[in-house]
Amino acid sequence: MWLVRCGHSEAYVKTSQTCPDCGVKKKKTLAERWHSCPCCCEKHRNVASAQVNLN
Ligand SMILES: [Zn+2]
Repeated sequence: MWLVRCGHSEAYVKTSQTCPDCGVKKKKTLAERWHSCPCCCEKHRNVASAQVNLN
């Protein structure tokens, strides 16, 4: 899966900071692995990032 291989690319960082449910961008550091959003969307950042790319 290219998302994992390009884990440190700029695109990956950008999508990994966007909530797949509400689209809100939330600043995350690379050390933060859990996506937690005020809209009650909680998931692993890789999962959230993949969903953003699918949308
Ligand atoms: Zn959200």
